Amino acid sequence: MKLYKLMRKPPFFLSASHWMTKKDQPVKSGPNSRQAVIIPLLLIQYGSISAKLKAMTTLKNYLVSSIKGMRISAKGLQHNPHSGKRIIDEKTLKEMEDYAKQLGISNIGYTKVNPNYVFKDFEILYDKAIMFTMEMNKQLIATSPSLESNKEIFRTYAGLGTAVNKIADFLRENGFNCHPSPAIGGDINTVPTAQDANLGCVGKNGILVTPEFGPCVRLAGIFVDIDNLPISDQKDHRWIADFCKTCNRCVKSCPAGAIYQEPKVLKDGTHVYIDLEKCAPPFSDGCSTCISSCVFTSGQYDRIKSAFKSKTEAY
Ligand code: SF4
Ligand code: SF4
Repeated sequence: MKLYKLMRKPPFFLSASHWMTKKDQPVKSGPNSRQAVIIPLLLIQYGSISAKLKAMTTLKNYLVSSIKGMRISAKGLQHNPHSGKRIIDEKTLKEMEDYAKQLGISNIGYTKVNPNYVFKDFEILYDKAIMFTMEMNKQLIATSPSLESNKEIFRTYAGLGTAVNKIADFLRENGFNCHPSPAIGGDINTVPTAQDANLGCVGKNGILVTPEFGPCVRLAGIFVDIDNLPISDQKDHRWIADFCKTCNRCVKSCPAGAIYQEPKVLKDGTHVYIDLEKCAPPFSDGCSTCISSCVFTSGQYDRIKSAFKSKTEAY
């Protein structure tokens, strides 16, 4: 029996839907939406015993913080001001961005949410998203597979959960409604949504490859009904998808053979990059090799781009 397939949603008290009211008109998942996977359930079932014991002691604080963050995000919907304010001025937007950076956010992008990226049977209150990346420490991730790299991943999950809730408080204090969606227990597939916000490109490892940090980041978002966000229609980083076809370094370096050479297209048309059941045992032991081995993790974006462009233009 597969636990993560049996339970596709967090318990009601951690779920945003539970705190929505009859007046709300949430965005529902689309016809091609993917099922959510509750990663801790996958790790409980497939992770190694020693990893579970280590996780209990070492990651406990981060997991507790992440669960508290989920609860605050969901319950906080009842504090939306419903002021009717839907235009943000440049000064407030800049203040929000500066505040986000103080909270450890690395980069910020804006997009309209594709309903197909809302997890199946989930709903979000508003259709625009402010997407956030948070860098993970490259040196710690480079120790993969290790307890240090595992801690760094869960530290970032917890940090993002805290950050999106504090930014939501800032937006509400300024009169805006919002729905923060943390990195663990979020409501959408953050990777393609962050790609839509021009923060990077979905790599062959299924992770957002960013120009600044490669895939050495985690993601979260806040949904808002602000009408004048600087939504990007740029696709500056999509060339990475072509580069990945020539690279395959993460595919070769994955110790579990869990990264598909070509993404698997599911019946509903969505793309899956990783065999989660194969990935779970090494991941629970701190594997992040698909991040540490990626050529973009060393921060060579411009050099790789110009070399790749010269090579492809030569043909
Ligand atoms: S975390 Fe490790 S096992 Fe999982 S896909 Fe990445 S490299 Fe493979
Ligand atoms: S290692 Fe290579 S193939 Fe894998 S995500 Fe990075 S660039 Fe793409």
